[in-house]
Amino acid sequence: MSNGMTPPRAPEESERTVRFAGLATFGRVPRWEEVTDVDIAVVGVPFDSGVSYRPGARFGGNAIREASRMLRPYNPAQKVYPYHFSQVADAGDIAANPHNIHEAVETIEAAADGLLDTGARLMTLGGDHTIALPLLRSVAKKHGPVALLHFDAHLDTWESYFGVEYTHGTPFRRAVEEGILDTSALSHVGTRGPIYGQKDLDDDKEMGFGIVTAADVMRRGVDEVAQQLRERIGTRPLYISIDIDVLDPAHAPGTGTPEAGGLTSRELLEILRGLTECHLVSADLVEVAPAYDHADITAVAASHAAYELITIMSRQIAPVRWGAPPK
Ligand code: MN
Ligand code: MN
Repeated sequence: MSNGMTPPRAPEESERTVRFAGLATFGRVPRWEEVTDVDIAVVGVPFDSGVSYRPGARFGGNAIREASRMLRPYNPAQKVYPYHFSQVADAGDIAANPHNIHEAVETIEAAADGLLDTGARLMTLGGDHTIALPLLRSVAKKHGPVALLHFDAHLDTWESYFGVEYTHGTPFRRAVEEGILDTSALSHVGTRGPIYGQKDLDDDKEMGFGIVTAADVMRRGVDEVAQQLRERIGTRPLYISIDIDVLDPAHAPGTGTPEAGGLTSRELLEILRGLTECHLVSADLVEVAPAYDHADITAVAASHAAYELITIMSRQIAPVRWGAPPK
């Protein structure tokens, strides 16, 4: 390595250790305690007390970890070895109070602060979408207001549920109110399904969001959509939040609020691969609820989406810390 630092510790070669043995970390990367100078921390947040329909996303992180054992070391779509040129580590879970949402939000923010203060970027595995708010607060302390790219069937900019301000349907309205998002670069992708009324869309637009619906993705194609998103994001620090229900229930049955007519997993992965040049500072993937899953369909799709996000971050870290990655 050009700068004399210890090379990152990558997962064991699968020729030496079978993939299906041992305790699961994401992608079989080392645990946080086993390495130093972590560039990308995968962290679980097993919290789902903010859901409005089917519960169970608290088990999502570990389902994604189990499903990620097959992820191999080279990402040919982005031409990067994500684990070899940045140190990726699994930081375990942030355990938050399931009976007190306000306390949980504070716990998650404090734990995210601690990880980000080490210089690591976060790839957070939910948990329900409530957790995006404390994560965005933490990221904004470091980077200022960030651009947001939000993949979801739903807007998640509603005012409240049952008078409660912190839920999985309200994180991005709270984030706009708190001034932690760059309102010139807010996008939803994959939006669809019935809503409460036109006011939901009017309010959302007023906050600054642009919408690429699930039908837009189908009609316009992934390359054009990715190009539009790149132009909107520019060089701003970017946070990507993926609610797995952005995928059609055929591709992600294991989730709490499924809506027909969603993206294919192929469309989601291809849009992400079109964002390789974006300055991705952290990301989350939420709402995987394994009790409704079949044959790990949802958890596998989620693990691959997280792998693409880690790769985007890795390919930006690599030239800075380790010299340019090999051709
Ligand atoms: Mn959703
Ligand atoms: Mn959501």
